[in-house]
Amino acid sequence: MISKVLIANRGEIALRVLRACKELGIATVAVHSTADADAMHVRLADESVCIGPPPSRESYLNIHQIVAACEITGADAVHPGYGFLSENAKFAEILDAHGITFIGPTAEHIRIMGDKITAKQTAQELGIPVVPGSDGEVKPENALEVARKIGFPVLIKATAGGGGRGMKVAKTEADLEEAVSTARSEALAAFGNDAVYMEKYLGKPRHIEIQVVGDGMGNAVHLGERDCSLQRRHQKVWEEANSPALNVEQRMKIGQICADAMKKLKYRGAGTVEFLYENGEFYFIEMNTRLQVEHPITEAITGIDLVHEQIRVASGAGLSVTQEEIVFSGHAIECRINAEDPRTFVPSPGTITHFHAPGGLGVRVDSGAYAGYKIPPYYDSLIGKLIVHGRTRVECMMRLRRVLDEFVVDGIKTTLPLFQDLVANQDIANGDYDIHWLENYLASTTDA
Ligand code: ADP
Repeated sequence: MISKVLIANRGEIALRVLRACKELGIATVAVHSTADADAMHVRLADESVCIGPPPSRESYLNIHQIVAACEITGADAVHPGYGFLSENAKFAEILDAHGITFIGPTAEHIRIMGDKITAKQTAQELGIPVVPGSDGEVKPENALEVARKIGFPVLIKATAGGGGRGMKVAKTEADLEEAVSTARSEALAAFGNDAVYMEKYLGKPRHIEIQVVGDGMGNAVHLGERDCSLQRRHQKVWEEANSPALNVEQRMKIGQICADAMKKLKYRGAGTVEFLYENGEFYFIEMNTRLQVEHPITEAITGIDLVHEQIRVASGAGLSVTQEEIVFSGHAIECRINAEDPRTFVPSPGTITHFHAPGGLGVRVDSGAYAGYKIPPYYDSLIGKLIVHGRTRVECMMRLRRVLDEFVVDGIKTTLPLFQDLVANQDIANGDYDIHWLENYLASTTDA
């Protein structure tokens, strides 16, 4: 059993993991950089260890310091949150070698899913539908032949990719050579690996992802989908569960395909299988082998605490539910509150002078922010997540509108006004949007 968890993260997700540990009677260790000494996750943890200066490289990504912090405090497990070391196979292996439980999948599964070509081949072998494309890597010499077979437009993607980098569209044959060479050099610069592959470019897809959890022994369940189509520069802004585009049969069918794949893989931990969805078809793009930012909307509609499940399966206790016991109830929406200008998205670090989180039925705020908190400039700008649940999508939207009016964050700029615009928009009310909708909307309202 796990008795003390070191949380190798910061901000709202460190707090989120800490809450689950407290509920399970597990002691907590916070780690922090010198810039985060006053952070909420540090204040609420049973113990805390400073692991270095502000740059992430020297603190939150410093494996040596984190292992030392485990040894000093006697932590027998590490929860990596998302980002930082959460998808670092080497980190999982090093913890293993020290007899410390990594609350996540095996290093092997992290590695398979971390390389996009291998991930796609594995998904296909496991019966998951994928985007038509090249079999493996594409070289400049064979790019044209492959593209003609797939049919234009095509997308060139980096196998080591992430955050939308190393991705280039070729609309016609004339664009291909440049798209391949730009994608390769971007991939080399960003990831130190210039391998690229090719996919059919989908014009107006939605981004729909399936939440799975496996026990590592051949049992796995799915917890339905999240629609994360509202994105800016490949960053999710607003997520909802269920997707306005799917019916129950579609949900259960794709969910079961993913759960069955995870059973075959003997996957351990929480994971997300990401798809593009167009004209009734699902196309696998990648799998994230960790907890995701938007996991609370799944918790809202299932009542299942995903961090509890992660800790259970990591300690060998198995899943707390069977597929038949999972009941989907109502609708949930998450808004990512960033410390950014709501029009230009320029980061706005500084001191929060007033902070009032909304409340009432069906409202959850996951945030480490408080009045007097000084947001450090070194990390991402997410300062909190607002999650609203209702019995229907309409009720959820009505509640969200009320809750956004109640939320006060003064002293810095935040993306709250953007959500007030979105909740009043007719396309959003209709659930009628794809992955390009938000950028088009932002461009049209800026010109006006
Ligand atoms: P990354 O890991 O860099 O975020 P993904 O494979 O998850 O890369 O893709 C990121 C985003 O790029 C998707 O959410 C989607 O908006 C777009 N995208 C990826 N593949 C395709 C495709 N075949 N056609 C159209 N858009 C795509």
